[in-house]
Amino acid sequence: MAQSSVMDKLVSLAKRRGFIFQSSEIYGGLGSVWDYGPLGVELKRNLKDRWWRSMVYARDDIEGVDAAILMHPKVWEASGHVAGFTDPLVDCRQCKNRFRADDERIKGTPGAPDAQCPVCGSKGTLTEPRMFNLMFKTFMGPVEEDAAIVYLRPETAQGIYVNYLNVQQSSRQKIPFGIAQIGKAFRNEITPGNFIFRTREFEQMEMQFFVKPGEDEHWFEEWRAWRMQWHRDLGIRPEKLRFHQHGPDELAHYAKDAYDIEYEFPFGWKEFEGIHNRTDFDLSRHQEHSGKKLEYLDPATNERFIPYVVETSLGADRLALVVLADAYREEAVEGESRVVLKLHPSIAPIKAGVFPLVKKDGMPEVATRIAADLRARAIPVFYDDGGSIGRRYRRQDEAGTPFGITVDGQTLDDGTVTVRDRDSLAQERVASDAVVTYLQDHLAT
Ligand SMILES: [Zn+2]
Repeated sequence: MAQSSVMDKLVSLAKRRGFIFQSSEIYGGLGSVWDYGPLGVELKRNLKDRWWRSMVYARDDIEGVDAAILMHPKVWEASGHVAGFTDPLVDCRQCKNRFRADDERIKGTPGAPDAQCPVCGSKGTLTEPRMFNLMFKTFMGPVEEDAAIVYLRPETAQGIYVNYLNVQQSSRQKIPFGIAQIGKAFRNEITPGNFIFRTREFEQMEMQFFVKPGEDEHWFEEWRAWRMQWHRDLGIRPEKLRFHQHGPDELAHYAKDAYDIEYEFPFGWKEFEGIHNRTDFDLSRHQEHSGKKLEYLDPATNERFIPYVVETSLGADRLALVVLADAYREEAVEGESRVVLKLHPSIAPIKAGVFPLVKKDGMPEVATRIAADLRARAIPVFYDDGGSIGRRYRRQDEAGTPFGITVDGQTLDDGTVTVRDRDSLAQERVASDAVVTYLQDHLAT
């Protein structure tokens, strides 16, 4: 399969099955903004739940927060985003398109008479590069004046930093400890693309771990290993995952060391999680700009210090794309081809399809009862009595549903149903009143 065709098929499947739709599609769509449909919202919610459980519930040293998207404008001066969160851009005076100054399609030097616009082909119409801030600006209150400018946050991390003492004191945590958050962030990207990989509105799952200076390198290595293992536990093929360490020219202004976790997408190896040693940069800057002491008092030694921060920053939308791309397979099964999403059962939007083999002989009644029992335990199922059983299986394969439960002639004799495994295609007979337990056991991992 050609690389682009895999992405085309994935985008098409995502729309057809209700994972992801283009935003405002009936109006022609809004550039690089996407909506999650009935299956997509479940997939993303399951990913976020899995992350939250591993970060917040499974550990005693991480607390959760949900900070507001709008923050005091001084936050972004302190963080360096007002001055430094910029890209050099050029405009074409002829066709009004805007490009990054380093766009490979531009021939010549922007601003010079021989430089050629990659869209309209005009020569000498490109402006010299100008710095363009990636933060979305808006106005707070009734008057559109400079004093009331606020930004849509470009990262969730700052909402954690400005609350770190509130959290530490209210939860009585001691360093080392962390704060986790899931939330939306916004960046006015000039070259978004690759479906939900780079979008202007996106969701982050970030954790900031506060440590004593000098212990930061130890914790950085721990978090690097834990995060990679988390993705492997999610069933992502290990050969599609790798680390990329930032070289000196790639490191962000705040970082002492940084690793990306990369996935081999159909469009190449790309970052979807970052592990960063942010040192005491952010807290020191906030202490300086706010005038409020942000030191931690170590109760054991009476030492005062500004903690170092090890950050793990994962994009929820990128992770959704990773699991979709990794799960997508085309296979030949019993002489027929099928498309299947081999999603980890814990993140599959629908956990089981429930099928009466035929619409008679009491089979629909038994199948309806099984579906109701599963729904009553908050296990999402899809009841389907339309078409051949093979077609019904394939519809669920394509949605990533891990189990198929079929009520057939034998059910009426001995009370068992067939449970089909999406991946191995193995079928086993399970007592119909044990189906709930069977699914709970197989979904627990
Ligand atoms: Zn042009």
